[in-house]
Order: sequence, then C-alpha cells, then structure tokens
Amino acid sequence: MTDYSQTIIDLGYIVASILFILGIKMLGKPERARMGNLVSALGMLIAITAVLFECCLSYEWVIAGIIIGSLIGVIAARTVQMTAMPQMVAVLNGFGGIASLLVGWENFHSQPESNLIVRVAILLAVLIGGVAFSGSLVAYGKLAGRISGRPILFKGQQLINAAIFAVILICSAFLIYHPSGAFAYVVFLFVMCLSLALGVIAVIPIGGADMPVVIALLNSYSGLAACAAGFIILNNVLIVAGSLVGASGLILTGIMCKAMNRSLANVLFSGLKAGGGSKATAEVQGEPKPITPEDAYYILEAARSVVIVPGYGMAVAQAQHAVRELGEILENNGTEVRYAIHPVAGRMPGHMNVLLAEANVLYEQLAEMDDVNPIMETVDICIVIGANDVVNPAAREIESSPIYGMPVINADKAKTVMVLKRSMAAGFAGVDNPLFVKENSRMLFGDAKATVQQLVAEFKEN
Ligand code: NDP
Repeated sequence: MTDYSQTIIDLGYIVASILFILGIKMLGKPERARMGNLVSALGMLIAITAVLFECCLSYEWVIAGIIIGSLIGVIAARTVQMTAMPQMVAVLNGFGGIASLLVGWENFHSQPESNLIVRVAILLAVLIGGVAFSGSLVAYGKLAGRISGRPILFKGQQLINAAIFAVILICSAFLIYHPSGAFAYVVFLFVMCLSLALGVIAVIPIGGADMPVVIALLNSYSGLAACAAGFIILNNVLIVAGSLVGASGLILTGIMCKAMNRSLANVLFSGLKAGGGSKATAEVQGEPKPITPEDAYYILEAARSVVIVPGYGMAVAQAQHAVRELGEILENNGTEVRYAIHPVAGRMPGHMNVLLAEANVLYEQLAEMDDVNPIMETVDICIVIGANDVVNPAAREIESSPIYGMPVINADKAKTVMVLKRSMAAGFAGVDNPLFVKENSRMLFGDAKATVQQLVAEFKEN
C-alpha cells in the first residue's frame, strides 16, 4: 500500500472517530437523538470501508458476512417490540463481547510469539469479552423471562467469584510469559472457559430490577473488550470506538446507580438489598378506591396543574399518542401540564423520553424527578400511567422494603393521584405499592391506552 493510500485510510479513521463523538453528543438531547444515531452510523460505515481497504482480506467472506449480518440485523430491528428492546441490547452487547473473544483466540493461535502488549491485550479481550458474552446471555434470559428475574443467591457466591478471578489472573500471568506450546494452549482454553463461567456467576445473583445497571455495565465491558481487540490487530478506530463505548457505558452505569441510590458494589454483590427481591406486602394495608373515566374527567376538568408520570405500562399499551392528546386537551382547558420522567422508568435508559418524543410531546414539558419532586405538593393531579416502582413511596417510607432508598417520583404528595393500570399487580421489582391505597389515590383500572382514550372522549363530549 502506498503512503498516499495509507494517509487517506488514516484520515477516514479520524473522520469516523469524530463522527462517533458527535453522534454520542447529539444523543444527549431527544430532538437530536435520531440524527445522532445516523451520524454515528455514518462514522461506522466510513470506519468499515477504511478497514476493508486497509486489510488484505478474502473479500468473499467479508461480503457474505455483511449480507448475512445485515439481514439478521434488519429483521431483528424491524420485528423487535419496543418493550423487548432491553433484551435486544443485552444480546447485542453479548455479540460485541464474543467478537472480541474470538479475535483474541484467533491471535493467540496465530501469533503466540507476539509482543508483551499484544499478549496482555489478547488475554484482556478473552477475559472481558467472555464475561460480557455470557453475562449478557444471562441478562437476556432474565429480561425475556426465560430464567427467573429474581436474584439467584447461594452460599459462598462471592468467594467463588473471587477464586475464579484469581485463577484467571494466575493463568494469564503464566500465559504472558509462556505463550507457546500445547500446555499453554490448554491453559488458554481454560482461561476462556473460566471467563465465560465468571460472566454467568456474576450476573445470576443480580435481581431483575437491577438489570438496567447491569446492561449498562455489560455494554461498557463489550466496549473495553473491543478496545483490547483493537490493540491486538493494531486498529486505531477500534481502539477509539471501544474506549468510547467503554467510557460512556461506565458513565451511564454511574447515572443509573445514582438514580437507584445504590453503589455499584451493592448492585453487583448484594442481590436486591438484603431482602433479595422479597415483597413488602406486610406493610401495605388498605383498600384501593377505583373510579370510572367519567369520574376522572370531572376531577381533571377542574385541575389547574397536572403532572403525568409515564412508566413501563404506557410502553406496553403504546399509549403515548393518546397521552399527548390528553395533555393538549388539558392545556387547552387552561391546565398546566408537565411530564415527570424517572431515569429508570420503562425497561431501558431513556425509554420514556423516546416514546414521548415519538408522540411529539414538547421537550420543554418534560421534567426530571429532581425538579418535579420539590413542587409536587402544589400539583392538583398526578396521573400515573403504567408506572409502579418509580412512584412507590415504600422506597421512602418502608425500611424493610427491597427498594428502600431508591429515589422515586413523589406522586403520592400531589393533592390527588390517579393511577392507570390494569390490576393491583406489582411492578418489575415485584414489590407491592402502598401508593395505590393512599387516601388521595384513585385507581383507573384498564389498559392505559384504552383508558386515556376514554378520558379524551369524555373531554370531547362535554
Ligand atoms: P414497573 O415495571 O414498575 O410497572 C409497570 C406497571 O405497568 C405494572 O405495574 C403493570 O401493572 C402496568 N402495566 C403493564 N401493562 C399495562 C397496560 N397495558 N396498561 C396499563 N398498565 C400496564 O414500571 P416502572 O416504569 O414504574 O419502573 C421500571 C422498573 O423496571 C424499575 O423497577 C426499573 O428498575 C426496571 N427496569 C428498568 C430498566 C430501564 O433501563 N429503564 C431496564 C430494566 C428494568 P398491571 O399489570 O396491573 O397493569
């Protein structure tokens, strides 16, 4: 390859890296998020093109891979339900991890006498990639309901984790100094198996309600594994992209932990607090007060301020468009309307923001939990639409509750709370919610979309 071609390829890598950074920055604002995705995708296209020009490959394999991968990707992205997005993200993280592990494996095989940095990078790609792959599969199983979402705890779990990690470190140290020969290869395969086992054992004790944090962390691992793979094949753009994913995943993990008022160590090692996902049923006493959409109309009609708290149920019911219509009708009626979004509402980071943006809810109407809680006592009606855990006052009031300490939206502090859901069932964390039986609470039972449409119809008829 001429110097000139190499310069063009390097330029392509720099442009791709800049587009990745710009794309991530644009994801910070809902109205620019779609464009941010496109910008990052363009960066990836440039990066892939540059790699294909740089490497002397047998292109028939590459083209076959691109066609098969693209077909699977397009079909999966088109058919996946919005509510199944977290599972899909988990699987994609896993693919990132296994890809890096395979790069490490192939290079250990093909260049055993590589330099020290490459040998360390190979072992990191295998260790982190293996944990990301098997951990993501377990996270997928938990989120998809294929294995129990409850924390699976057994005696000596942390000791076993620590022992496996220590054995991996010892074997890796051996491999760095004795990388060739049949015995080294057996030790390498052993490290690979232990890394995969570590991923399973590390994620299995984590409860379903902590999965958002785990997904963000595994995403970060898959980025770090890709970064290590970049060092193995000496590809700068892979190092940059991997570091970006690794760093942003870690930042997101920190934000999610803060939103749940948990330390990362507590999430990873404690199950769901000491209760291990047990219910706080004993503490919840009282009868719910069901109302009809007609009753709800009369209450809402007189309200001067309304805060709408969306949750997972709004996503299930696909009620966002009807909710926006109700919000507009209330505003036309002279009511101040805000949407309060909890950082872990729904089943993926930013889930509610995406749905409300899709329904064209104005960005200025969205309020964060920390902004809305201090004024909740002045709010006439708080309408909770398919949310449960994120408005559960047990997190503030019941010390024995598994979610005690998690910051929640204080819907119960509004003058009146209307809860739209189908039954008295618990939310994702499996914890009963005393909000539903509070004096100022009214239950509007039914599918969220149907109920909101009935409310809209009431306003139109009257
Ligand atoms: P929850 O899971 O706590 O509650 C959702 C509620 O929606 C349920 O109680 C259910 O009650 C109701 N619901 C379901 N379908 C409908 C429907 N068609 N119409 C009306 N209501 C419906 O959701 P939240 O958003 O409050 O909390 C999110 C939870 O998910 C947290 O525990 C969080 O930690 C966890 N999580 C978050 C992730 C994220 O990244 N955001 C990822 C993974 C988990 P009913 O069945 O009675 O209708």
